[in-house]
Order: sequence, then structure tokens, then C-alpha cells
Amino acid sequence: EVKRDPKIQVARLKLPILGEEQRIMELVNENEFLIVAGETGSGKTTQLPQFLYEAGYAEHKMIAVTEPRRVATVAMAARVGYELGLSSKEVSYLMRFEGNATKDTKIKFMTDGVLLKEIQSDFLLSKYSVVIIDEAHERSVYTDILLGLLSRIVPLRRKRGNPLRLIIMSATLRVEDFTENTRLFKEPPPVIKIDSRQFPVTVHFNKHTYSDYLKEAYKKTVKIHTRLPEGGILIFVTGQQEVNYLVRKLKASFPYRKDVDYSKLITKTKTASDADAALDSEPDDIESDDDEVEKEMKRARKARRKAKQKAKTLPKINLDDYDMPDDDGQADLVDGDDDSDGHLSDSDAEEDTLAPAIKSCRQPLWVLPLYSMLNSAKQARVFAAAPPGARLCVVSTDVAETSLTIPAVKYVVDTGKKKMRVYDHVTGASAWRIVWTSQASADQRSGRAGRVSSGHAYRLYSTAVFQHDCPPHYQPDVCRRPVDDLVLTMHAMGIDKVVNFPFPTAPDRLQLRLAEKRLETLGILEKAESKRKDEDDVLKVTPLGKAVSAFPLLPRYGKMLALSHQQNLLPYTIALVSALTVPEVMSGKADCWPATGNTLLLGDPGVLLRAVGAAEYAYVNGEEELFCAKYGLREKAIKEIRKLRKQLTSEINLSIAGVDVSVDPSMQPPSDSQARLLRQLLLSGLGDQVARKIALDEVKEGEDKRKFKYAYHCGNLEEPVHLHSESILRKSIPEWVVYQELYETGAEDRRKMVMRNVA
Ligand code: ADP
Ligand code: MG
Repeated sequence: EVKRDPKIQVARLKLPILGEEQRIMELVNENEFLIVAGETGSGKTTQLPQFLYEAGYAEHKMIAVTEPRRVATVAMAARVGYELGLSSKEVSYLMRFEGNATKDTKIKFMTDGVLLKEIQSDFLLSKYSVVIIDEAHERSVYTDILLGLLSRIVPLRRKRGNPLRLIIMSATLRVEDFTENTRLFKEPPPVIKIDSRQFPVTVHFNKHTYSDYLKEAYKKTVKIHTRLPEGGILIFVTGQQEVNYLVRKLKASFPYRKDVDYSKLITKTKTASDADAALDSEPDDIESDDDEVEKEMKRARKARRKAKQKAKTLPKINLDDYDMPDDDGQADLVDGDDDSDGHLSDSDAEEDTLAPAIKSCRQPLWVLPLYSMLNSAKQARVFAAAPPGARLCVVSTDVAETSLTIPAVKYVVDTGKKKMRVYDHVTGASAWRIVWTSQASADQRSGRAGRVSSGHAYRLYSTAVFQHDCPPHYQPDVCRRPVDDLVLTMHAMGIDKVVNFPFPTAPDRLQLRLAEKRLETLGILEKAESKRKDEDDVLKVTPLGKAVSAFPLLPRYGKMLALSHQQNLLPYTIALVSALTVPEVMSGKADCWPATGNTLLLGDPGVLLRAVGAAEYAYVNGEEELFCAKYGLREKAIKEIRKLRKQLTSEINLSIAGVDVSVDPSMQPPSDSQARLLRQLLLSGLGDQVARKIALDEVKEGEDKRKFKYAYHCGNLEEPVHLHSESILRKSIPEWVVYQELYETGAEDRRKMVMRNVA
């Protein structure tokens, strides 16, 4: 019997999904597969697990809920536990390196990768009565694989007389990928659509598209806050740095002071009508053809009206309780300058025109960041109301697109951008690119403005961009990235014919083959005779491969760890692998790290290893910050490496019997013989990424030889690849090298392939 807090009950009853409880539960009871599609915020994630719990699905076995994002895994477990009045022992979460699940857990939220790992040890998922795959529309790689596997596991469980239910939850996007794929489900599963009360959202496009979208986002937010009626603002940008940057900037413009009583501030001062909400952009995709005079008059009328309102409605500040901000207080409000991207210049002329509005606006903005890596306490703040008198403003990455619903948003400011990892399938090179979102994402983002009342979405780009540069959808991840780790995971599960797997959307067969080939080269897969006479050889996981698949790493790094276990080099390899998996550790001070001792033997990874060791030593002595600055190390990267080392170390202690390694802050540099072994380990993991120096006499007549000083041949690539400008091997230019990563740099006319972390 669930006893909910009456306040929670009231809030729940407002959710559209509550009215469908009976119909949903009937469908669940009668069907093994069910698709629940509903607008973001309709209550799928928080309510469906509760319906199942109340219907007894957690009595003998657990309810599993998978999320593609860590941030949702933690937040939703906490929320559902809270609504049910259960502790985190019963409604728990589990993700890589972190969790609070217990033997009493009834509802288990987990990242999709974690459930996939569980299938490896218990193919029938016998601990669960029902599996909910949440956010299936995100089409994360693990989610796709889980769907393929579960489409087979569910019938197997039925045959054993021990049925398992699968519920696929998704925003109302491309449900056909699941229903119309007969390899996945022979009979299309029933779909239940949750109609949510969505209020109309007016979409405004910018007339022009400016490249500095952060500046545009700032300006638009200032205009909304100073001119438009109450209602929360949600801003979409691409990453953590941008989020923090805008948060600082907006806080500085509209500071909230604890010592001021804003509650008496008359918040309904901005009485602009919806017509005024167009700000400077055009409603919908209609290009305005108002003639200029008419516009000018409108503008003047508006300005007069505004001036009047402002005059009438100066905020009432409690003068007894008001301190003049001292210098220190001010300093906090000034922009930090640790953002290298330098998007916004404060001296910009156009921004200056906003200055009077900013100055005369007394209402604070309650600005909150939201992104995946934010700690959960700070995340939770976005769900609470802003303090009286302040306006809520959340600056978020695409986490707020469908995973988390921020209450009370009326205005959405959409930069139209997102960060996406782009891969080159031939070279394996990858790069993070900022790209236009898909049209589907743009619509999702706009929709966030219409949850509580009619709203407005400001797209900071033109209709032409929307139509020509935003693809309708992006392909699912599984079709876009190298699949080595997946292919290994699947083989380790006994799926010999990866190409026959029932993917919701199948990746290119060639990509699957190439991944198998790389794994074969690394000795992780090997050919074996098929048990079936009429079949060709199949690929099996080697004993090495088995060890490798236990590590939560890409196979090449897992292999380095697996082999170093034999050589007692684990602490070094853990440090090395951690350092190699964190991007941009060194920031352009290669001279600080001359080749000493056996550094050259290990090339760039050797420098990394030395740097990590030394930084750790400085950290223990409380001098990390200074040390990093002095020796050109990115402090955040060093901190991340420390975390990873700890995590990997404990993971390894847990997963390999008899191993007990620890993170030693005063780890000595490797001896010469250890360095030689470490070099072999590097080769074992990177051995398929080899390059050979281009001799200067190979350079064609007429070509500038100087351009070939650090140039190498690499595999089937026609163009040369170059040693990274910071590579320590520029001093010795060895004939043969292995590299960790190949990537493209330079402006369009000077593109160049560069090898990073070379040994
Ligand atoms: P869906 O999964 O359909 O997108 P959710 O179940 O995530 O919807 O959200 C339903 C409602 O619950 C939303 O209005 C959301 O704001 C609210 N909600 C979710 N988590 C919290 C929380 N931690 N605190 C307060 N409200 C929350
Ligand atoms: Mg949800």
C-alpha cells in the first residue's frame, strides 16, 4: 500500500499520464511488448514505474528502468523514491562507477550500458519482471542493442514460463523505427500515445544568423527579461563551458542579492502583450514585410509605454536591510576569463544599447546551470521555484530537451546548436563538432515553452538555416560511430553473427566488418570453425578478449590493462590509460617537458605519464594549481585523470580476483626495464595504428620538402599524416611510430591530418 504525501498526489494528478493508468496497466498485463509514446513532461519516467510498482511487479522481482543519460538516472530514481515514499535502498540507481542499489531494491534505474553488462552475466535477466527502456527516441547505442536483445529475451522467458515485460518509452518521435521493423518485432507491439496538454508555442526565427550564438543568446535573454511578462526562460547551448559562461554573464547583469527583499517587487510590471513577444525576430517562418515607418512607429509607441511602466514600478527595496555592495561582492559578479573560446566581448556596441535596460531593471534573474556532469544537488535546484520576485532562467545543454522537464518555462532561447562527435570511418579519426540540431530537436526544444501556458521559442537562426542546414533527424549513434566495443560485447555474449543482429536501425555492414577486423588484429577475436557444417568460419572471443571485455574501456585500452596485469605494471598502465582517455591534458607548453631519462622510449605517452605522476605529487603537497599553471597542464584534465585512476583501480580490484592495486601518489617514474615493457603494452593496444616516416627523397618533384619534415605514411591513406606540433618525437623523428589518435586540423584550405600521442 503506497501512502503518498497529499501534495505529491495533487501534483501527480495534473500529469496527463495519470488518466491513462488503467489503460496502460491493462496493456502491460496483456502484452509482452508495449510502446508508450508521449510528450516530454507528460509523466512517463516518473509515473510508469510507480504504476508497475503498485500493480505488484516489484513483489518478487525487480522493475528495471534504463536511461541513456547519467543525469536522468540519478534524478529520476530520487524523484520516484520520493513520490512513493520509499528510501534509496528500495528505489535505487546504478551506473558505471556509482550507485546505491541494495538487495532490497525494488525499482532500479540504471544507465543502458549497465543493463547491457548485466545481460552478459545473466542473459535472461532473471532478476527482473519488467524492463522499461526510457528515452528510446534518443537512440543511444546501448539502447539500440538492448532493444535487439530484449526482442529475443522476452520470448525465451515466456518459453520458460517466467514471463518478462518490455516497455519502450519515447517522446513522440519516429516510433515507426520500432513498430515497422519486422526483424525486431514480428508483430508490431501496441503503441499507447499520451496526449498531453501542450499549450501553443509561437516560434520566432531570427532574420539573420550570427556566428556568435552565445552573444545572441545573451542579448535575447536580456530582452526577454527586461521587456516580457513573467515566466521562466530556458536557454539551450552546446556544453558545460558555454553553460557556465552564460550563467556568469547573466548573473552579473541581473544579480540576485540575498540581502534584498524582492518579494514586494511588483512582478507584473511588464505587461507587454503577446504581440510584443516577437522582440526583434519574426514570428513563425513568415518574413515580415512591415514597412519601416510602421515599424518605427510601433517601436516608439512601445518605448513610451515602457518608460511609463518603468517609472511607475520601481522595485521596493527594503532599505533597512540593504548593503552597498563592497568591492569583493562586485568582483564575484565580474566575468571570469578562464573561457578560452572568448565568444562575447563586453565592449560590443550593440550590447551597449542594452545597457540602459539592464541598468534600470531591478528584477533579479535566478540563473541556474544544467548539464550532465553537474552534481546531483545542483541539478535538483532546477526543479524548485525561483525565490519570490526573481525570474527563473535555466541555461542547459540538450539534457533539458527530453530527459528532464523544467517546470514553469514560458520562453525558450535556442541557439540551434549541439555538440556532436563526428567520426571518419576510414581513418578512425574523430572530432567534436558543434553542429546544427535536427529539426526534430528544434521542435522538442521549442515545445518546452508550452508546458504551463502558451509560450514563445526564439530560434537564434533564420528559417533558411532551419530548412537547409538542419537535417530532419540525425542517424542513430550506432550508425555514426566506430563499433569496436559493441562488436566485442556482442561476441562476448555469444552473438557470433553480428551482421544478423536485429538492430532497430542496422549500422553499415562494412563498419561491422571493419570493427571485427580491428579486433582480430588486436588478438581479441579469432576465427574458429562453426559448429554448423554448412557455415563459414565464425569469429570467437579469445581468452585475452574475454579479459578485455570485462573492462569498461575501449578494447584497445582494455587490452593494455589485461596484459599489464601479467607484468605487474598495473599502476602504471592505469595511470597511462586514464591519461590517454582524457582529452587535452597538455596545453601548449611542450618545452616544459624535455626528454629526460626514458621519456623518449615511451614517446608522448611517456611525457603524459611523467606529468600525471608529478602533478599527483604536487596535489598531495597542496600545490596542484600552481604546478599545473607552471608546467602547462590543464588542471581540470588532471583532476579528471585522478578520478579515473581511482575508479579504474577499484573496478580492477573488484573484477580480477587476487588483485589489490592502489593509487600511489608518489609513484616513481618507471625504470628502464619497466619503460620497455610499457612500450610493448602501448604497441599491443595501438598496434593497428602504425605510421612510417616519409623519406625526403620520396617527396615528389615540385613539392615543398619542408612540409614533409614530420610527415608519415599511414595505412591506406594517400595523404601524409604529421607528428603533432607538441610531440616530443619531433626531436627524434623515428622511422616507425604508433599513435593514439588521428585527427584533422586547420582551416579549410590548410587541412592536415595529425597524429596525437605518438610513441
Ligand atoms: P516524461 O518522462 O514524460 O518526460 P517526467 O515523468 O520526467 O515526464 O516528468 C513529469 C513531471 O515531473 C514534470 O512536470 C517534471 O517537472 C516533474 N519532475 C520530475 N522530476 C522532478 C523533481 N525532482 N522535482 C520536482 N518535479 C519533478
Ligand atoms: Mg522522461
